[in-house]
Amino acid sequence: MSEASYSKSVVVFAAHPDDTEIFCAGTLALLKAKGYRVTVCTVTSGGMGGIGSDERRTVEIRDGEARAAAEILGARYVCLGGRDGFLYDTEELRIKAQDVIREAEAGIVIAHLSVDYHPDHRAASAIADAAAILASLPNIPSRFPPLPANPLFYHSATLGLTDPLGNPIARPHFFVDIGSVEETKMRMLACHRSQIEIMRVQHKMDDFFGAMQAQDLAWGREAGVRFAEAYWQHLGGGFQKTPLIQEELREFVIRG
Ligand SMILES: [Zn+2]
Repeated sequence: MSEASYSKSVVVFAAHPDDTEIFCAGTLALLKAKGYRVTVCTVTSGGMGGIGSDERRTVEIRDGEARAAAEILGARYVCLGGRDGFLYDTEELRIKAQDVIREAEAGIVIAHLSVDYHPDHRAASAIADAAAILASLPNIPSRFPPLPANPLFYHSATLGLTDPLGNPIARPHFFVDIGSVEETKMRMLACHRSQIEIMRVQHKMDDFFGAMQAQDLAWGREAGVRFAEAYWQHLGGGFQKTPLIQEELREFVIRG
């Protein structure tokens, strides 16, 4: 089998407007510094994440917050417009997602783990998984030509380091030391001001931003550095196994 070549372009599929910042913004900042184009694609518009604003207004607020965060990164921002809390793996969303991958000519796709705690995250992961395969098939209806190869597919961590039953999730394949870009990541997360109050009410989280940073500290402890993000590469059928992020960010990568 010949080795595929991959464009320096990464697409992240996140279920909600703040998930990219929580789970993988540090790694995106490091890839950006290596010359990668970054596309942040939110699958739902986050309309249920509001208190004191109805769904329509919450969508507007969160769209502005997500765009501001992507701007800090120098990333393109796209929202697929799925409904927050009611995200299903549909034909329409698969087609839209694979269009985003084609348009970006993605070499790397990052999505949630299939065993994430949140049903929307699991649905977004399934949509991204399917879309990453569809993006190279010529018979898919699309405005963009098929990619020469499926992008490499990676998963970012879930919250709390466990599966939905509370069992520890599989050991990450690798960690990325994000100490040099943690400040950028937190500035991006700070754009999502609308989430402070709903996290306090719904999740009893008095310090939303601090609680999210605690996750970077927890992975950092696992990795032996101050702040880290954790990743798994999708090594099952359908995808090449080239360790591209691990090679591009070799000075920041710690094996899991
Ligand atoms: Zn989410």
